[in-house]
Amino acid sequence: MSKKKEITKIEELIEKAQAYIEDKEDIENIKKAYQFAKEKHQGQFRKSGEEYIIHPLNVALILTEIYADAATLQAALLHDVLEDCDCTKEEMESSFGKEITFLVQGVTKLSNINFSTENEYLIEYYKKIIVGMSEDVRVIIIKLADRLHNMRTLWALPEAKQKTKAKESMEILAPLAHHLGIHKLKSELEDLSLRYLKPEVFYDIAEKLNNSKLERDKTVYEMQEIVSNLLTEHHITHEIKGRAKSIYSIYNKLDKGKKFSDIYDLLALRILVDTEQECYLALGIIHSKFRPLPNRFKDYIAMPKANMYQSLHTTVFGLDGYLFEIQIRTHEMDEVAENGVASHWAYKEKKDAKAIMQSTTEQKLQFFKSIMDLSNDKLSSEEFVNTVKDEVLNDNIYVFTPKGDVIELPRGATPIDFAYKVHTKVGETMVGAIVNNNIVPLDYELKDNDIVKINTNKQSKPSKEWIQIVKSTHTKNKIRSYFTKNEREIYVERGKESLEKCLRKRKLSFSEFLSDENIKKITEELKIKNLEEIYLNIGNGKTPPNAVINVITKEEKPVVKVGKSTPQQVDSNADIIVSGIDQVKVNLAQCCNPVFGDEIIGYITMGNGITVHRSCCHNLAMLNNRHVEVSWNQVQNGNRRYLTCLVVYATDVSDHMLDIIQKISMLDISIDSLHTINKTDEVIYELNIYVRNLEHLNKLLTELNKQPYIDKVERIQK
Ligand code: MN
Repeated sequence: MSKKKEITKIEELIEKAQAYIEDKEDIENIKKAYQFAKEKHQGQFRKSGEEYIIHPLNVALILTEIYADAATLQAALLHDVLEDCDCTKEEMESSFGKEITFLVQGVTKLSNINFSTENEYLIEYYKKIIVGMSEDVRVIIIKLADRLHNMRTLWALPEAKQKTKAKESMEILAPLAHHLGIHKLKSELEDLSLRYLKPEVFYDIAEKLNNSKLERDKTVYEMQEIVSNLLTEHHITHEIKGRAKSIYSIYNKLDKGKKFSDIYDLLALRILVDTEQECYLALGIIHSKFRPLPNRFKDYIAMPKANMYQSLHTTVFGLDGYLFEIQIRTHEMDEVAENGVASHWAYKEKKDAKAIMQSTTEQKLQFFKSIMDLSNDKLSSEEFVNTVKDEVLNDNIYVFTPKGDVIELPRGATPIDFAYKVHTKVGETMVGAIVNNNIVPLDYELKDNDIVKINTNKQSKPSKEWIQIVKSTHTKNKIRSYFTKNEREIYVERGKESLEKCLRKRKLSFSEFLSDENIKKITEELKIKNLEEIYLNIGNGKTPPNAVINVITKEEKPVVKVGKSTPQQVDSNADIIVSGIDQVKVNLAQCCNPVFGDEIIGYITMGNGITVHRSCCHNLAMLNNRHVEVSWNQVQNGNRRYLTCLVVYATDVSDHMLDIIQKISMLDISIDSLHTINKTDEVIYELNIYVRNLEHLNKLLTELNKQPYIDKVERIQK
């Protein structure tokens, strides 16, 4: 880890800020905040012996690295003034206004008198900060920078204090940074924490890295040259970076039982290109030159991570027998990968950055919703902070809906937790679950990357026994409240959830949507008494949520829109209709992989519901007498994608993988995997892809059949 430079003069901060803040008044305000803080902290010193003002100055410096706006920088400079100096809230407000004072108050510690123990105090403090995020996510970002600078100067504190701070950083602050996607802050916080928590391990890894550095650097550099020339040959403008792995990430892998040599021998490259298209092209080019390691290709572009991270990952056999982990993404994706929610600061539409950041946090980051749900759950402060730590921030698993949307759950979660997370109504009416095409019991423990489908029945109700089965505290509370609430309360709750969901779908911020002014308009227009009645009417089906939203949007009020690429909403309703049967478990057969629009036939399995095959599937002949008529539900097929497997027979042995990938991605089809089988006189490509429907698939088949080098294309039936 390189020692970070500390600054001691405001001029150095201003220079950094001026690199991206153009407004002269903004710059003057930053200087003013510095002067104010400097006077207030006059005569105070840090444990390290420096003048106190050095600390806020460097906190602000850290924030310039993620392009924080002027208000955030001012708040960072002032962040300890209310707490440690003779300055009232009113005085600050009259000098700097409400916005900045709010941010400073957000990170200010609580007054100490009300707490008997340190632990009790910390719990209240973290609750305050975490909940404060609901109003302005910048509060947390300032706190992260504050802690990072304290961790950089932790050497000045006694050992016991070092350990507590490091533990807190590891358990709460680094995971918060991770969920907000601010990789820069997260990674340094983790490394610094490890250094104080497990110094032997830390220095051991650092030394080993150092010893092999020269050789690895040389190989990486050579590989970089080859890849760069390759991309240039194909006219792809790009930037390639070798990338250092953090000590903590290596420690983490060792801790999970990986061998030292396996990790050190892995070299890493990152390729940045201009467009999403070029990501896939670059991947194809690299795979055509370097053999990929099986099962290591990950498409986080088609399926982004829960913290919005997007990239392609592959591992190839590279130079000198070294394995290379390669990440390919656009510059914009890279910005999000490094700075997460804070990346909005770097974008052009800076004026709205604050509002966009807030609505992105509300709508795209699941951990935020989980925290808000828990804060409404009437837990004690201690339960709240511990639950947030254990079930939201740490040790999560990520599973998928059948449409490919990622859902974040605590480790140990069951299909019931999943169903409630999708929608309370789905949870309350669930009758069964299918994981990776197999029926599973309700207490099944979900694993990373499971694809989960929930079967529901309108008449079905939750069972009290579920409370013992489910993992998450919030699900438990939901089930409990079902049995204590009356019908009206249940409908109000469901209505609220449906409205929020609908707003998210339409990329509208609900805190802004539910302004007093808007509520007044809605109640007048729809002749509904108050907000609760609005929820009730949505919940019991009298008023569709969109009708409520339209009251406001048709007036074209300025409501905040989130940036591009919102993940699709979950819709757990079945997309297949089985004739004569209302609610039944339905699976798509894995032998012939029907896609929407295919002619299909259902087969009644023994105790596993109905499996849907394509009418032409040869397996059906063996499954006589147990057929049932099925059809696609034209209404329900939203944005779901269907897996289909193709075999492409090429007429010659030269490599056409690149071209095939290009054809596929041009049609907005996502690739699950692509294998090449080399024979003496032909090459066979095996593709697993996700298409929207038969028409979508046929477009690709037509396109591929046009290519002179392709002999034929077949859909696989196993
Ligand atoms: Mn501080």
